[in-house]
Amino acid sequence: MVFRQLFDPQSSTYTYLLADTATRGAVLIDPVFEQARRDAALVEELGLKLAWTLETHVHADHITGAWLLREKLGSRIAVSRAGGAEGADRQLENNEWIELGKRKIQARATPGHTNGCMTYVLDDHSMAFTGDALLIRGCGRTDFQQGDARSLFRSVRSQIFSLPDECLVYPGHDYRGLTMTSVGEEKLYNPRLAESIGEGDFVGYMEHLGLAHPKQMAIAVPVNLKCGKPEKTSSLEPEWAPLTYTFAGIWEVQPHWLEENLRAVQIVDVSPGRS
Ligand code: FE
Repeated sequence: MVFRQLFDPQSSTYTYLLADTATRGAVLIDPVFEQARRDAALVEELGLKLAWTLETHVHADHITGAWLLREKLGSRIAVSRAGGAEGADRQLENNEWIELGKRKIQARATPGHTNGCMTYVLDDHSMAFTGDALLIRGCGRTDFQQGDARSLFRSVRSQIFSLPDECLVYPGHDYRGLTMTSVGEEKLYNPRLAESIGEGDFVGYMEHLGLAHPKQMAIAVPVNLKCGKPEKTSSLEPEWAPLTYTFAGIWEVQPHWLEENLRAVQIVDVSPGRS
């Protein structure tokens, strides 16, 4: 299995790349629009074929890269049917499976943060991608997008805490730079959802958080309801040359193109050690 955890510093979002080593088929969970170029470069450099992008939910804090990656790499978009997004290739219901070569990923409905939240679980129960349902020692808020504290509590208890204690949990965000946790740890130490806490206490706590809405919400939600397709789709990429973008973050052009177009360009030598 190929596995990478990628980060968007603007929104503190984690994107996960999973691929089957044998067939090179890959999925990206929760890609971010501004990072689609980076993610596509990594997929290409690792020799993978992006089959699916999977959304854990309709995000309020960033725009998904699903549509842009479909344009670039021909991947298909899977979302939860309950989330209500248009333009996806597949609408997932609870307990459906996404095939990934010889491996499979299970979609488990975990509503509560939003009504369409999904947790994606690897077939051998070694990894769970919980979106904002369960965060590291926390959980997503429940005060907008049809959020519901009672249903979040029941989702986490029945769909996530029912996994083995060793199952690693990869959240949709972390604001302190923590990268992962496990089911066993969260059952013991999650200050909101640990097994020692009752539903009534959790609901009372979540109803009094008093947080401001995310800054991006008014922009992000309508675009995410179209799987990340922006209003204006022209000139998203530079078109003056056949450029490729690398995972190292560098735009490159092939030497033969440069040779053929030498008159049209100005070359600036920025190699170190020259003066
Ligand atoms: Fe969220």
